[in-house]
Amino acid sequence: MTKKSLQTTLIHPDYTAPEGFDAYPPAIHHASTVLFKDVAAMRSGDWKNKTAYTYGLHGTPTTFTLEARLAELEGGTHCLLAPSGLAAIAMVDFALLKTSDDVLLPDNVYNPNRELGRWLTADYGITARYYDPLVGAGIAGLIQPNTKLVWTEAPGSVSMEVPDLPAICKAAHEHGVLVALDNTWSAGLALRGFDMGVDIVMQALTKYQSGGSDVLMGALVTRDAALNDRLAMAHMRLGMGVSADDAFLVMRGLPSMKLRFEAHDASARKVAAWLKARPEITRVLHPAFEDCPGHENWKRDFTGAGGLFSVLFDARYTEQQTDRFVDSLELFGLGYSWGGANSLVMPYRIQAMRKNWHDGGMLVRFNIGLEDTADLIADIEQALAKL
Ligand SMILES: *Cc1c(COP(=O)(O)O)cnc(C)c1O
Repeated sequence: MTKKSLQTTLIHPDYTAPEGFDAYPPAIHHASTVLFKDVAAMRSGDWKNKTAYTYGLHGTPTTFTLEARLAELEGGTHCLLAPSGLAAIAMVDFALLKTSDDVLLPDNVYNPNRELGRWLTADYGITARYYDPLVGAGIAGLIQPNTKLVWTEAPGSVSMEVPDLPAICKAAHEHGVLVALDNTWSAGLALRGFDMGVDIVMQALTKYQSGGSDVLMGALVTRDAALNDRLAMAHMRLGMGVSADDAFLVMRGLPSMKLRFEAHDASARKVAAWLKARPEITRVLHPAFEDCPGHENWKRDFTGAGGLFSVLFDARYTEQQTDRFVDSLELFGLGYSWGGANSLVMPYRIQAMRKNWHDGGMLVRFNIGLEDTADLIADIEQALAKL
């Protein structure tokens, strides 16, 4: 075109930046519309194989890059991003379950996943059943002909039981049932899900990958192209897009993730050991401690621990007293989630959450952040004095 009006010039400028720019931060590509070179390219591109771009929702160089980095990290071959960890969980269920199917969830499962199970059962003609997280090979006895999926979580993120993953996977696979692992606690660093035999690794990137307490995102990693295709169809049909800026934030967290994770781990073990020696505490539910159910599975399968653990108070303390303890903490924020620099605390009504909970004491969960542990311990000490 030879002559453009001012208005058109604003929309179709002449300038294109020179090629050849390079830098460490990945580029942030914002797009709803993706442009095709020509009609042939538009007709031949395959968004599912990530060999071409079709629409912002189905991937940009920014999201493809994050997906590839996460797949490599988990030891998988394919990855799909979702707008939250919970959305990633839901995507697995909607991809793999249909009316009259059955799904097994551990009784200590992340509570919104349990809520999703309730919904599928109430409204979608799917049954969600809950198993003892320490069932191990005994899962075989629960599998029915219509069972399609077993969810696992290692450890359960409130009561912290560590399952026998290889035994669960072996039994499930002998019955042709797929196993999905919520691997958020270990960030994929301390537990290698595919080595345990699972088929799908789910991560809440909201936690350690981001590390900033400022972004929500989830991921599903697989090692199987056909299984990934099933998940990718649900991803497309449900419109599971993530924003380019959020993908950038997660990528910015990745280089430091292992060092942060190891710092959380060391600090959490120090604080947990201090709590274990306190007379107010009857049990420290930290997978690296013998008090924790499934500790032997942690010792066999994990190479480290995160910053998250729970404690049980002596049953002589009422909820009112442990609530006062929580409210008296000054360095610990009262809030959900974890994986950021700030220490957090959360009391749970565990007796109401679980079928056969074994203990009468109040459960309080700690997320140990990156503060100085001496300061954190001093803070806990002053709050215990207010019990
Ligand atoms: C946080 C979390 C999720 C969900 O992640 P969101 O991004 O908050 O939806 C799922 N599972 C576990 C174990 C989590 O800790």
